[in-house]
Amino acid sequence: MQRVFRVLFFSLLLTCPACQRGRMFRSRFTMNVRCPVCGIVFERGAGEFSGGMAINTVATSSVAVSGAALAFFTDMPVWTLIVALTLVSVLFALWFYRYARALWAGILYLTGSIRED
Ligand SMILES: [Zn+2]
Repeated sequence: MQRVFRVLFFSLLLTCPACQRGRMFRSRFTMNVRCPVCGIVFERGAGEFSGGMAINTVATSSVAVSGAALAFFTDMPVWTLIVALTLVSVLFALWFYRYARALWAGILYLTGSIRED
């Protein structure tokens, strides 16, 4: 169990889940194909990024639903709330993109889909 938390923690730091030293991203939206330190491939299959997209979708939806709950506690006009929620959701999804893909890479590593050759 400690290994699971360690791998997910380093994934959230955008660090390679295998060696815990190599950076997973070379820019804001570009993931390295291989770890620059140990050389493992972060996403082997073409469609493996979809897991990260799913994590991002669930997290963004949770933020949006939590924000929509504000409608019950404020007198904010509906259109203002809709615009604010849309803006917050888009910004959150863009910000969380790297963390979602890194988390998915960590999960793939934990399940053995990513391994050192
Ligand atoms: Zn590595």
